[in-house]
Amino acid sequence: MTRADTTVSAWPATFGVARFHQAPFDPDLPGTAESRWGGMLSAAPDWCPEAGPLLVVSPHPDDEILGAGGLIRTWSMLGYPVTLVSVTDGEAAYPDWRGLTDVRRRELVEALSVLCDAPVTTVRLGLPDGGTRDHAGTLFSALSRLLSNEPTLIAPYEWDGHPDHDVTGAVCLELARLHRLPIARYPIWTWHHGDPDAFAGQHVGRFGLDPATQHAKAAAIQAFASQLRPPARQPIVPAHVLPYFTRSFETFLHD
Ligand SMILES: [Zn+2]
Repeated sequence: MTRADTTVSAWPATFGVARFHQAPFDPDLPGTAESRWGGMLSAAPDWCPEAGPLLVVSPHPDDEILGAGGLIRTWSMLGYPVTLVSVTDGEAAYPDWRGLTDVRRRELVEALSVLCDAPVTTVRLGLPDGGTRDHAGTLFSALSRLLSNEPTLIAPYEWDGHPDHDVTGAVCLELARLHRLPIARYPIWTWHHGDPDAFAGQHVGRFGLDPATQHAKAAAIQAFASQLRPPARQPIVPAHVLPYFTRSFETFLHD
């Protein structure tokens, strides 16, 4: 799709923050059984992005792999440009863990190297983890500068229930609208605390993963040791949520 002629350089002040819900959730809770998603997901049609560049936007290191790792690998293998924007470094996952910023950055580099044969261009914004809402304008401006190749935006679901996810998703939706770019959003925490009615009225599509891609994605997820196996702490990504992210397809809400 072509870009709008209008140059937009600032986060619209009219796009208020009141729309962002912040439903609390606890990853330690069992969450929605994977089997409950089966009916809705089996009825979803296949989907894939338009042939061309992708701009994948991730609130925290691991979200891009969990939600869209298979798409990233597939698109990279096909030779399309893939740019990953890492919005925060996820340092607030364990506030008492000194040096976690560097740990999570390294985990992302490792995950991408496991996932893809070719390097994935990564732009790290370093916004404060948990504080994306207060930096929505910075995010909006940074992403605005990465749209010159008219990518499809791959963004977190704007009602995912984590403020960084929701704000990032909303900013991406607004950019897609303003620049008339295609966009697809990937849920993360909705799988855990939502139910199949959460996507009522949305265009839900399945992006199929071949066995090699499923294997590479599963291996890449294991690179996030700080989230799966933190020393003397509760995991942010416990084993019981992994079935949502190791399906034979990824799920996107598309326009
Ligand atoms: Zn996240």
